[in-house]
Amino acid sequence: QSANRSIPFKAETIQLLNILIHSLYNDREVFLRELISNASDALTRLNFELLTNREVFEAEAEPKIHIRTYPDEKLLVITDSGIGMNEAELIENLGTIAQSGARSFIQAAQEKNAHLSDIIGQFGVGFYSSFMVAEWIQVTSRSYRIEDSAATWFSEGAGTFNIEPAEYEHRGTQVKIKLKEDAAEFLEEFRLREIIRKHSDFIPYPIYLNEGEEKVNQQTALWRQSPQEVEETQLEDFYRQYTLDFEKPLLHLHMAVDAPLQMYALLFVPANPERNIFSPRKQDGLKLYARKILIQEYTQDLLPKSLRFIQGVVDSEDLPLNVSRESVQSTRLMAQLKKLITNRLIDTFSRLAKEKPEEYAKFWKTYSVFIKEGIATDEEYYEQFMPLLRYHSLKNTTEWISLDDYIESKPVDQQKIYYILGDDERSIINSPHLEVYKKRNLDVLLFTDPVDPFVLMRAKKYKDIELVNAATEKLDASESQAEDAEQEKPETQEKIHTVISRMKTVLGEKISDVRVTHQLVQSPARLIDAEGALTPELQRVYKMMDK
Ligand code: ADP
Ligand code: MG
Repeated sequence: QSANRSIPFKAETIQLLNILIHSLYNDREVFLRELISNASDALTRLNFELLTNREVFEAEAEPKIHIRTYPDEKLLVITDSGIGMNEAELIENLGTIAQSGARSFIQAAQEKNAHLSDIIGQFGVGFYSSFMVAEWIQVTSRSYRIEDSAATWFSEGAGTFNIEPAEYEHRGTQVKIKLKEDAAEFLEEFRLREIIRKHSDFIPYPIYLNEGEEKVNQQTALWRQSPQEVEETQLEDFYRQYTLDFEKPLLHLHMAVDAPLQMYALLFVPANPERNIFSPRKQDGLKLYARKILIQEYTQDLLPKSLRFIQGVVDSEDLPLNVSRESVQSTRLMAQLKKLITNRLIDTFSRLAKEKPEEYAKFWKTYSVFIKEGIATDEEYYEQFMPLLRYHSLKNTTEWISLDDYIESKPVDQQKIYYILGDDERSIINSPHLEVYKKRNLDVLLFTDPVDPFVLMRAKKYKDIELVNAATEKLDASESQAEDAEQEKPETQEKIHTVISRMKTVLGEKISDVRVTHQLVQSPARLIDAEGALTPELQRVYKMMDK
């Protein structure tokens, strides 16, 4: 058995500790959130172990987190009955920066020194954040493995930490903090309660405080409550604790389904699709529980790839608990869950569009690129995504219209949906291609998004109505027989021929042909693609891929 050893921290850790120890920062309370979240992770990992392994030290111990204060000694002690750590794990986990958030933190702190407090406040820095309030920290732990013995980690947050064997009877981890003189507030019960309710209310294990018999946190799996009973603020709190995104989500969806299978889901559309670098969510995907036990942290098979911006939790009674994480993907049940969730999400988007067009406009601004990606790439769902499309049109450049709006307001005898491709609305509206549409009072959708041509590669029809490029469609501008008769006169024909041959001579090699058209109203000429050329849609697709 090794005796007391002193081990230097990694250079990065020292840097981080320096920043934290010397920060004058009045939202230091977040350190408790970090310790509780570590305890909760440790309990979840133990639960998962217990699914397949009963050879666990103190297998029957109650899963819980206990916080105790010793005002005379200025000690704050957080204990959990989680998975625990042996000596090697203490060194590995608390001696280096494992957590990517911490590394990003150092970077951010160096970049914008002035806003250090914002960075600490909003983003978790993990275990080390306790050094904001600690003179020293002692971590004593005993692993769930029966053969492992207990060990203690100790540090004052300077260059080194100490490791030594310990006597500790229970499974799990005890974090003992000697509070700094100016951190006495964290010995007061009401203050601790307040912090726990604010940051850790939805931790799925009971948190006890001193000798209190009642847990401090609500602990409820919010998604398992009936959606009617859950309040808006609870949802917002949950979302904030889940993502550390301080902006309100654009939208939430709470599902409680009994048939054809049992499941709960609580899903959010973030205001912004990019996770901030400090978010506890490190990858895309939903958190998957089976009967309240976490099966998989990032489950990507529950949503079409294009809806990867969705955040949240799915919980099903029907998933077998003993599934290995690898086999979760392949079960038929997962496919059913995906279908249920996706259909309800698409439904929710459509309802938002109908009931709150202004909020849908916000959604569309941020997420149109994802929906369009879904139409271009998702075999299974592209048709369901299409009603979500919104465009401006020749007749309406201020409001978003859907393909359904377009169909509803078009003349009955118009058999097609017209669109035109371009880089910006102002210039395509003045395109000579549209003159005939203006004259005949037909509307044309303006496809100005660089990804629209990709959408069109797949979306050739909507509700059996063909989508047609206005620039290549042959529509006749003349409305009366008188106009036609005028065109037919030999004098007119002769003049036209003279003009055509002159144009051919002047333009020479630059063009392949000059033809008469009846589609122009004001412009004398327009450019079209040569016979057999790539369609304008494909030309744009290639142009984009070339970049
Ligand atoms: P993170 O939680 O993001 O991994 P932390 O700095 O909070 O980063 O913790 C570092 C590591 O220390 C954790 O990943 C975990 O392995 C270990 N750890 C911390 N607290 C506990 C605990 N209470 N029980 C078991 N392991 C813990
Ligand atoms: Mg942590």
